Amino acid sequence: MIISMRPHATKQEIEHVCERVREFGYKVHSIEGEERVVIGVVGVGDVTACLESLEATPGVESAMRISAPYKFVSREFKKEDSAIRVNGLEIGGDEFVVMAGPCSVESERQIMQTAEGVARAGAHMLRGGAFKPRTSPYDFQGLEREGLKLLRKAKEATGLGIITEVMSDRDVDLVAEYADCMQVGARNMQNFSLLKSLGGCGRPVLLKRGLSSTIKELLMSAEYVVAHGNSNVILCERGIRTFETATRNTCDIAAVPVLNELTHLPVILDPSHATGKRSLVPAISRAAVAVGANGLLLEVHPCPEKAVSDGAQSLTLEAFDDMMRSLKPYIELWKQSRAPAAAAAGVA
Ligand code: PEP
Ligand code: MN
Repeated sequence: MIISMRPHATKQEIEHVCERVREFGYKVHSIEGEERVVIGVVGVGDVTACLESLEATPGVESAMRISAPYKFVSREFKKEDSAIRVNGLEIGGDEFVVMAGPCSVESERQIMQTAEGVARAGAHMLRGGAFKPRTSPYDFQGLEREGLKLLRKAKEATGLGIITEVMSDRDVDLVAEYADCMQVGARNMQNFSLLKSLGGCGRPVLLKRGLSSTIKELLMSAEYVVAHGNSNVILCERGIRTFETATRNTCDIAAVPVLNELTHLPVILDPSHATGKRSLVPAISRAAVAVGANGLLLEVHPCPEKAVSDGAQSLTLEAFDDMMRSLKPYIELWKQSRAPAAAAAGVA
């Protein structure tokens, strides 16, 4: 259920409405907009009785049910796009945000070289896995804490914010010490204990779509994080499993506009895992811009042939630089296409 308060509702009126709703057995979550306070109501209770009672409660302008099973993340709950602040950047705002770096943090030399290269080419954030979810237990599992320290060094040298994966609820505090944004990998999209603990981690979360997950399941997982206290969630399409073998995964490019209809959360695309082939990354990146993604997460390595993971889909620093140049006119159009929305929202 969603309750819109009148524009000039008083603090007492808002608090009273929250109290009433709690009496019906619900949890509340209020959002202060520019004009009015909107109160999200979730849980199990007597909806009809609650709605009736709210009609007669001072300060309430309207109250209605949210039909989607995901509540807080739905467009029904919040019509305007959410912009999420990460290390001074806004994801979901007026900038098309590029997060680039190696699949795995491998060594100081590798991460520093990559960080400097991607920063020079115009990336906004540095990615790199310190905890790696690998299909085989015999493959490189990540440098863990050592890797996180190297990411911090790279941030100090370049100013780039850090996005890195957290695989277990046990590691949330450790990763949150070093990361500006906590990545939940495709394999963990439905690790509900992890999602719950990310609700209290104090950092934005980037949630990747599971290998065989529907868009609805992705949104339900985002709802877990928000319902547990963290509304700073960014979604990432990274390709799904289909019968097609020409690419590592099948890039569900339609997921971006579908998500833009269903949720106010920012949506980015990972063309590296979506294709598995570096030659396809620039084309899919252009497609991401064209369909209205808010940014890209992609893999770059100074020497992909020596990469310990995902070398085949990693761009060299030179190829990344070329791609960033070739994306510029597309990003210009992207900015122009968003201008009316920005003007309507009162953004200069
Ligand atoms: C990654 O970003 O390196 C990664 C493991 O991605 P995914 O979880 O999408 O497979
Ligand atoms: Mn990878």
